[in-house]
Amino acid sequence: MIRCLILGSGGAVPTPDRSPAAYWLTIDGRSMLMDPGPGALLRLIRSLDGPDSLDDLDTVLLTHLHLDHCADLPALLFALRTPITASEQPLQIIGPLGLAAYLSRLDELYGDWVRPLRREVLILELAPGEGLVPAAGRAGVWSKTGNPDELPAVTAFRAEHSETRFSEVNLGYVFRDEESHTLVFSGDSEPCPELLAAAGGADLLLVECSIPDEFEAPGHMTPSRVGALCRDAAPSRVVLTHLYPACDALDLETLVRELWQGDLVRAADGMLLTVPSLPDPTRKDQA
Ligand SMILES: [Zn+2]
Repeated sequence: MIRCLILGSGGAVPTPDRSPAAYWLTIDGRSMLMDPGPGALLRLIRSLDGPDSLDDLDTVLLTHLHLDHCADLPALLFALRTPITASEQPLQIIGPLGLAAYLSRLDELYGDWVRPLRREVLILELAPGEGLVPAAGRAGVWSKTGNPDELPAVTAFRAEHSETRFSEVNLGYVFRDEESHTLVFSGDSEPCPELLAAAGGADLLLVECSIPDEFEAPGHMTPSRVGALCRDAAPSRVVLTHLYPACDALDLETLVRELWQGDLVRAADGMLLTVPSLPDPTRKDQA
């Protein structure tokens, strides 16, 4: 079972209805905070479907290092420096090549302000094609798979985006549970062969749809680009996210369906997606 709680379905500019990027992913019971954009920690802790406290957060996964996807990472490190948090589990931060240099720059700026009081910080950089599996003997920690026969729970692919200041390669991810259900997240990406390959036959494709077609939009998806991707990749279900106001104002469903007529909704802050799509008895608000 894969669960994806959408904490932020908007772009860099928050609106009353949409916060910047943030997602709480759970794959077969193992959770991670993906892309902690501005305000992600507050939305995570407020959510009925999220963890009870930051002590339950062991993994941060990043697609790229634009601030609408990672601004709450230093805020998290600063919060974990207080004695209020009790966990002594490692905090693992996983992301694209360049992540370690980025965190080193944060450390130069803030020093021990961004060093958790009780928790070791583990940094893991992923290249496209590399995958993650639960680390043997280390609860809450992920390691790269070294076994070609082992299907990773998380596999990185190259996303075509314009972030080059800290990471030359930006990532999207394929999440796969033990029964091989898949959720594919595009990250921020314009159409590219890697995104098409990753999205092929996905049980659920969570895809950014940032910008209207008439705007100049390098590095991003538009309604017609999403439609063409879905037509070619044939996912079972599609959720549109990272919606900037100009795109959100459009009849996106009609525009995408000009090219693909499948199961399509736009994301909302607080939406809980499950793969396979089943009512989830573990939701606290349904208890
Ligand atoms: Zn973005």
